[in-house]
Amino acid sequence: MIELQHITQRYRTPEGGEFLALDDVSLTIEAGEIFGIIGRSGAGKSTLVRCINFLNRPTEGTVVIDGKCLNTMSEAQLRAARRKIGMIFQHFNLLSSRTVFENAVFPLELAGVDAGAARAKVDALLDLVGLSEHRNKYPSQLSGGQKQRVGIARALANDPEVLLSDEATSALDPETTVATLELLKRINRELKLTIVMITHQMDVVKQVCDRVAVMNKGRVVEQGSVIEVFRHPQSETTKALIGNIMAQRLPPFMIEQVRAQLRAGGSGEPAHVLRLSFVGDEATRPVISEASRIYNINFNILLGQIDEVQGRGFGTLTVLTACSNDVFSGLLDYLRRHNVTVEEITDHVL
Ligand code: ADP
Repeated sequence: MIELQHITQRYRTPEGGEFLALDDVSLTIEAGEIFGIIGRSGAGKSTLVRCINFLNRPTEGTVVIDGKCLNTMSEAQLRAARRKIGMIFQHFNLLSSRTVFENAVFPLELAGVDAGAARAKVDALLDLVGLSEHRNKYPSQLSGGQKQRVGIARALANDPEVLLSDEATSALDPETTVATLELLKRINRELKLTIVMITHQMDVVKQVCDRVAVMNKGRVVEQGSVIEVFRHPQSETTKALIGNIMAQRLPPFMIEQVRAQLRAGGSGEPAHVLRLSFVGDEATRPVISEASRIYNINFNILLGQIDEVQGRGFGTLTVLTACSNDVFSGLLDYLRRHNVTVEEITDHVL
C-alpha cells in the first residue's frame, strides 16, 4: 500500500548549513496492516510521516501509494491523493469554533460533497466512534479521548485507504489510550484501513501494531513483526524502548552478587546467566521445572515477566544455573526445541 524508497530529508539550519533529518529510509507497508514507526524524540518520525502524504516533499527518494507515485503528481493530483490519506494528531487539531459534527464534516465541505450525503456519512462516522450524543458540543466541552475520536471521524470522512497517526495517543491518559487504540484496531479490521502509527511508546506498538520499524537519528535501525522484534531486539535503541515497558536488566544491587557467582561457579561447575523469552503456549508451559528435572540442575530465577504482545502471551525470564558443559549444551538444545529463545548474558553485559 505504501512504498517509501530511499527517502532523504535535509533541512536548512538557521546558520545556513544542512541537517539530515532522514537518511535513506526505505519501507514497505502492506495493505490492511497496522505499521508502527517508533523512535525517541528527534528520530525523524514526524518528518517521515509528513513525507508519506507529501506535506513534506522529500529531498530525495520516491513515495508510491497504492501503486501511484506521488513524486510525479501535479498539485491537483496530490490534493486528490491526500484525500485518500487521513491523518490524526497528538493535539487533535480541531477547530474550536465548530461543533463535533461541523469538525467531522469539514473535509467533505472542502471536497464539495452534497450536504445531504455529507450529513449521512458523518452521522454514520459519529456512530462508529461513539460520539452521536455529543454531536452539537464544542471541543472545549469534550475530554481528550472524545476530542481524538472527533479527529478520527474527521480523518475517515473521505473514505481514506490509509490513516496516518502522529502520536495520536501521546496526550491521553493510559485508560483513554487503551480505548483509543482499541477503536483504531476495530476501524483497521472493519474498514480494512491501513494504519501507520507514529509513536515513541513501545506500549502502543505492543498493543496494536502488526509490524514495526525502529528509527534512530533519521535511519531505520530495525524492522520486523512486533513479536519477532520483542523476541530478538537487535539495536540498542530497540532494547532500550522495550526495556522501558518490560524490565530487562537486573537491579544494581543484584548485579554484583551475580557477577561473583559467575566468577566462582556453583558447586565447582561453570555458572551461566540466561535470558529466555517465550511466546504463545510456551509462555505458560513449565519448561523450567521440566528442564530442572530432566537435567537435575537448579535454576535461580533472577527476573521474570509475562505480558501480551499482539494478543499472544510473551514472557521473559532471566535465570542463573550452574552445570557441566555437556549438560549445558543439552539444556540449550532442550530449550530451543521448545521454542524458547535463549540468550546467554555474560559478565560484561550484566
Ligand atoms: P520526531 O517526530 O521523531 O520527534 P522530527 O521528524 O520532528 O522527529 O524531527 C527530526 C529532526 O529534524 C529533529 O532534530 C528536528 O529538530 C529536525 N526538524 C524537524 N522539522 C524541521 C524543520 N522544519 N526545519 C529544521 N529542522 C527540523
